[in-house]
Amino acid sequence: MLKLLFVSTSVGPLGTGLGGGVELSLYNIAQEMRRRGHQVQIVAPKGSYFESLPDIVQIPGELQIIAQSQERGDPVVIPGDSVLANMWEYARQVQAEYDLIVNFAYDWLPFYLTPFFSRPIAHFVSMGSLYDAMDRIIKQTADRFFGTIGFYTASQAQTFALNYECPCLGSGIDLSLYEFCAQPQKCLAWLGRIAPEKGLEDAVAAANMTHIPLKIMGKIQDEAYWKQVCAAYPDAPIEYLGFLSTSEMQQQLRQCQALLMTPRWVEAFGNVAIEALACGVPVISYRRGGPAEIVQDGKTGFLVEPDSVMGLVNAITRIKEIDRYTCRQQAETEFSLTALGDRFEKWFRDILVRSEG
Ligand code: UDP
Repeated sequence: MLKLLFVSTSVGPLGTGLGGGVELSLYNIAQEMRRRGHQVQIVAPKGSYFESLPDIVQIPGELQIIAQSQERGDPVVIPGDSVLANMWEYARQVQAEYDLIVNFAYDWLPFYLTPFFSRPIAHFVSMGSLYDAMDRIIKQTADRFFGTIGFYTASQAQTFALNYECPCLGSGIDLSLYEFCAQPQKCLAWLGRIAPEKGLEDAVAAANMTHIPLKIMGKIQDEAYWKQVCAAYPDAPIEYLGFLSTSEMQQQLRQCQALLMTPRWVEAFGNVAIEALACGVPVISYRRGGPAEIVQDGKTGFLVEPDSVMGLVNAITRIKEIDRYTCRQQAETEFSLTALGDRFEKWFRDILVRSEG
């Protein structure tokens, strides 16, 4: 049995959606590790809540700013009463009770602290390269603690140009929570944090051109951006349903003809892609980052030229070529909790073997 301490993202309490896909990933990895008989303790900002994981250690303090708002050359910013620092102080105090600490925060501090801890730290990096200070500390940690940096996908890992190949762990979901739907209604879905790097405006433009209603679900992270998108397409057939629970979200998603993914950045993974596939919903995405590694072009969706609204529109007109059952099957073979658990458990054990050796 492994004793694992999971230290969460510092940009928001778990369950709020502010942390994006890494919240669901942390939750799923924790559930699966516990199911396998390992001990998992989660440490997260105060206000965190996950159904069926009630025993989160809640840490007070100011949240970190999101890394997406950093310019390339910006310095590391840590507030005075930092929840990030407070979580890692907690981890320092209890480390002797655990075999391994797992960092889920895309922040400089946990990487910097790694050599000062007596227990090994596994860093799960949830986004591509965004600013130089972070790139530098990730590279230093990768060089010094071989194999301890894990990514979602190879395209994401490439953005850091590291000297070694690092584990790519992908993602996975509890497939029993996503119901297959064979007969969709005439509507499309767009899911995720509403923020500029997600390119929502292109999905809205495609809905506007095809006159197919677009259901939008997710946390509004950037209010000004959301208003700008709405103002640019006042007549688009869009409906904003809010930030929904997995259960409510999949009920809406499963009825859609396709999920549109319009990332402007190198999307590290895109949990929403596998959630759609699990419901039998094909994914139409820009050929960029994680979705380009997930979607089987022409089989479980379409990969289109990045930033091309016409590309999206053409793919929408061809959506009936995709067999929805094949989409569900892909999710079952590649993205189950068992597949996820196997990859993470191996990663954790490899780190422990190396740290003892
Ligand atoms: N999500 C949700 N409710 C919603 C819309 C989205 O819980 O109404 C979740 C979704 O399950 C996914 C996350 O938001 O886990 C978005 O993560 P993704 O990996 O797609 O992108 P990120 O935000 O990490 O860039």
